[in-house]
Amino acid sequence: MEHAVQSNFGRETMDNSAMIENDDRRDIKSMTLAELSGEVAALGEKPFRARQLYQWMHQKLARDYGEMTNLPKSFREELRKRYEYTSHTLLDRRVSSLDGTEKYLFGLSDRHVVESVLMRYHFGNSVCISSQVGCRMGCSFCASTIGGLTRNLAPSEMLDQIYSIQRLTGERVTHVVVMGTGEPLDNYDGLTRFLRLLSDENGLNLSQRNITVSTCGLPEKIRKLAEERFQITLALSLHAPTQEKRQILMPIARRYELGEVLDACRYYFETTGRRVTFEYSLVSGLNDSKKDAETLAALLGSFPCHINLIPVNPVSERDYAPPDRRTVAAFKNILEKCGKTCCTIRREMGRDIQGACGQLRKGYMEKGLAE
Ligand code: SAH
Repeated sequence: MEHAVQSNFGRETMDNSAMIENDDRRDIKSMTLAELSGEVAALGEKPFRARQLYQWMHQKLARDYGEMTNLPKSFREELRKRYEYTSHTLLDRRVSSLDGTEKYLFGLSDRHVVESVLMRYHFGNSVCISSQVGCRMGCSFCASTIGGLTRNLAPSEMLDQIYSIQRLTGERVTHVVVMGTGEPLDNYDGLTRFLRLLSDENGLNLSQRNITVSTCGLPEKIRKLAEERFQITLALSLHAPTQEKRQILMPIARRYELGEVLDACRYYFETTGRRVTFEYSLVSGLNDSKKDAETLAALLGSFPCHINLIPVNPVSERDYAPPDRRTVAAFKNILEKCGKTCCTIRREMGRDIQGACGQLRKGYMEKGLAE
């Protein structure tokens, strides 16, 4: 199994890169339409070619220049010589028999791997994408961070996760959550470019209101993101009601005080008018007591927000366990009694296919796909 996947990987890589060695070509799929127009003009091509090219990449989701049949062949050859065209290789696809959730493992051109998840809801299809190869934030309950950070993903490589899934399923992706492997605000420039391309009317034209970016809480970057005036939802990984407890779970909390992070979230709300979501992973015996719930309610006070409770997904390296149903329900009740009416418990999806953050990728790196 492992061998078959490896050889498939090699073949696909050769096809995609047309065997160009020392590839220092620029990444065409990460360019905005305005940038592309400049490139097309410099090549002496007619201006309307830029929009055609952009639409091939971001609307028709072409996997290669070869598919762009209404572009002159000579132009396509010129493009191939000058610009890299990213395209993911499908390494694994697992479908949950419980809820139809699909987990994908994709190979990148440098042989690193990323994972993405497709979740089907009544309101549409939501894709959870990765923003980095690995992660350096070190949260103690998260599988994505175990091998550290390898590199940022290019905007094109974030888009390709969505494009590949839309192509493979033939179903439109309506919502995107940047909640896979990586810390999106640690890849700030890549993330913001990705958001612009994803919501561009000449591309997939995804409504920014249907995009959520989840962060472990980097205050300067949260403020900077607010200034961009996107209409996206910001989700903050809070996970604890006090600075002390947050530090146990999240090393990044040692760098930024809880108050500073919450101030940045308030700034985000005031600047964009978008209600912030607070994610709270419940760990048995650590942050799930009645007192924790009360402290959390007091901490958030009257701040208009949404709280998302997530019973922690056990990762083999850590001995964290989720609380039982009753404890989760009691926690939720206390929050609601304190006026936090918009509190929801995240539905656990794809448990049978290693649905939690970074687990499939980690399994692949350790053992190949044979397991
Ligand atoms: N780095 C970003 C986004 C990636 S993680 C962030 O920290 O928000 C997406 C969400 O899943 C975060 O809230 C994260 O804390 C949570 N998460 C990661 N591993 C988990 C696990 N094993 N159980 C429950 N939640 C987890």
